[in-house]
Amino acid sequence: MRYIEPHGHMVSRVTDDYVNMVTAGCAAVCEPAFWAGFDRSSPDGFFDYFKQLTEYEPKRAAKFGLPHYCWLCINPKESEDVRLAEEVIALIPQFLNAPGVLGIGEIGLNKNSRNELKVLEMHIDLAARHDQLILVHTPHLEDKWKGTKLILDALKNDRRVKPERVIVDHVEEHTVKLVLDAGHWGGMTLYPESKCTAARAIDILDTMGTDRLWMNSACDWGVSVPLAVPYAALEMRKRGYTPGQIDQFVFGNPARFMSQTAKFKMPE
Ligand SMILES: [Zn+2]
Repeated sequence: MRYIEPHGHMVSRVTDDYVNMVTAGCAAVCEPAFWAGFDRSSPDGFFDYFKQLTEYEPKRAAKFGLPHYCWLCINPKESEDVRLAEEVIALIPQFLNAPGVLGIGEIGLNKNSRNELKVLEMHIDLAARHDQLILVHTPHLEDKWKGTKLILDALKNDRRVKPERVIVDHVEEHTVKLVLDAGHWGGMTLYPESKCTAARAIDILDTMGTDRLWMNSACDWGVSVPLAVPYAALEMRKRGYTPGQIDQFVFGNPARFMSQTAKFKMPE
């Protein structure tokens, strides 16, 4: 099989993960900017991280024959300090022409605070000014429904945003319809301790259909499974999806969304 990992934090993974992913059929990996497991102390920390995402990590992935793409932002977990966020956002335009940058992400909300919302709006403005795709992180557990509503409102309030150029990630049963009805794409994150299991993700596909949805592992420095997407593809097979439908979903869908930027090159 072949698949695209549309959301993996590869800077936190070891080379064995690259080997396993490529062996399982991974044809491209896309890495949104995220928290480092600790709060960075200055804009310089983000500058170095953006260099890592745009220069060093693509080279590391290339050693395993894997095309690497990324998304840039200051993530919601570090968005409480609006002044810092302004300084970091000012750094981003100089990186947008790098060959692997697909857009702005993963932006969104973590605790649904006023400052996070302000920084979210600043990111939406940045994406609109530079005609970038957007990848959105939604909060977890009890904050998810409210946070998703706030995010969808913020996207709708900026008339420059084209809904089909936005993927809202970490959707679950109670938020997926909101996201799709707003015209966006939805991402289902397969994560062992929180978010979706493979079985729940396939239940969502059974009820919502496969259009404008994708699955990702969101593998990072926490307990996560870099091969979650191919494992879920196996689950799809057990549930009666044909190999053609599975290919369309785990490869075709992410490729279709990301092909909205010319930066994304269709894997061979
Ligand atoms: Zn993530």
